[in-house]
Amino acid sequence: LPFRHVAIVVFGASGDLAKKMTYPALFSLMANNMLPKDRTHFIGAARSKYKMEDFHKKISSGIKQSSDQQVLSKFLEKCPYISLSAYDDGPSYQRLDSEIAKLESQSTGSGKNLRVYYIALPPSVFGDVSENLRKYAWHKEGINRIIVEKPYGKDYQSAKVLSNKLASLFTEEEVFRIDHYLGKDSVKSVLPLRFGANPFLSSTWSREHVQYVTVNFKEAFGAEGRGGYFDEFGIIRDVMQNHLMQWIILAGMERPNSLSVKDIHQAKLKFINDCRPVRPSDVIIGQYTASSKDPNKKAYKDDETVKKDSKASTFATAVLYIDNDRWRDVPFVIRCGKALDETRAELTLHYKTPPDSLFPSESGRTGTTFTIRDHPEKSHVLTATTKKPGRGFTVLNAPLSIDFSNPKYTDSYVPTAYEVLIYDAVRGDHTWFVPREEAEEAWRVWDDAIKNSESRNPLKYEYGSEGPKEEKDLLKQLGVEFETGEGRTVDVAK
Ligand code: NAP
Repeated sequence: LPFRHVAIVVFGASGDLAKKMTYPALFSLMANNMLPKDRTHFIGAARSKYKMEDFHKKISSGIKQSSDQQVLSKFLEKCPYISLSAYDDGPSYQRLDSEIAKLESQSTGSGKNLRVYYIALPPSVFGDVSENLRKYAWHKEGINRIIVEKPYGKDYQSAKVLSNKLASLFTEEEVFRIDHYLGKDSVKSVLPLRFGANPFLSSTWSREHVQYVTVNFKEAFGAEGRGGYFDEFGIIRDVMQNHLMQWIILAGMERPNSLSVKDIHQAKLKFINDCRPVRPSDVIIGQYTASSKDPNKKAYKDDETVKKDSKASTFATAVLYIDNDRWRDVPFVIRCGKALDETRAELTLHYKTPPDSLFPSESGRTGTTFTIRDHPEKSHVLTATTKKPGRGFTVLNAPLSIDFSNPKYTDSYVPTAYEVLIYDAVRGDHTWFVPREEAEEAWRVWDDAIKNSESRNPLKYEYGSEGPKEEKDLLKQLGVEFETGEGRTVDVAK
């Protein structure tokens, strides 16, 4: 990296995201020699007051226990902490600026100084922080970057206001809107799968062969402790409008002309513009009640951070249609939910049964599916209809699969999504960040559905269940099943 010094400043270093994600990612980047050890610092900033050793204890608690203790202590030496009086207090930022300048002046590297500001703070203070950073802590001759976390606004209007604010302070080159799904291999792998040398996928990846597409995102845990945030945002804003939408965009967009940032971003935006705004009637929302089996699995409303009359959704299923030649009338059915029966994240294409199939199943489906799975394991699974060995002509759906937990396919060092993206931001690569227009336009697809859902009472479902049973009616109406072909073994006997 051609920098004299690299300063990565974590705003909100006292918080949950910093402990769980940001610092572990920074540690791993350092431990794996992705950043210059002798001229990089990770500066924590927040209002909380810490003795340095307590701050180090806090951030170490998020780092894997098995980490090499010597490497960890070397890392902690690079992690100073600065307590700000308030997020709108100018002198605090001047202090931060001079602390960073001191580290920069001690560096023996050559090139420009780089400052990357990672904003792991609630949106309410984001305006003050960006203004003060620009005013007091932007390096005048160096390179500055700001990484902006979700939520990127609450709707189209507020996203626009946020964009205008950012544009008044920073150049678009300096802004990195992070969506950690874009740091995931499972999400990015859609590109080589579709546009690599897989004619059996690329030639069938359209309405001609695909009956519908599902995204199944389930968490077996509730909103424990994050109720305050959840109450205001709900699950559609939390995961559907951004993370799952990014997965769908890559799965649905047309072939970009090249893998350049510009071409990829253009193809993504074109897809979003082709998305029909989700109709409120195509959305089911739910909120979990207490488990009848496990007293520890409390209702969402029993979380002490949640309002007793909360209507926040912790479950949603929505249907998205894309008005273009590739996808017209193909439902993209997206489910996401907390406190369900399992944890799972996968995107599946469900193929049509050709009308002249000699082996039609009783249900009218061959069960042929193609799944890109991020959880419980990272895998791709294509199911194919084939003959079951033995007498007669019994047909089954056999998975042709690749499981990436097999070390044969994987480098010994597989960075987390946050590591990948922080490293991209340090290198100045915008490909897997969300450009301004995309961040705004993605809201257009969801605004009506979200606003309408907030006026409704969410359906109830029990903690640990499959979700509200009313979801089944919607799925039946659409002829959609979330199950992949892997589950359907023996089908037709002839
Ligand atoms: P957090 O723990 O609630 O807040 C981070 C820090 O911000 C706190 O330690 C606190 O630091 C300061 N803070 C909290 N509430 C504040 C308020 N009302 N006014 C001023 N300062 C306040 O949040 P987080 O979970 O780390 O998330 C940070 C950002 O990342 C949020 O925008 C969130 O949506 C996003 N995010 C979080 C996660 C996650 O898993 N947690 C995942 C993706 C994105 P001081 O009091 O010390 O100043």
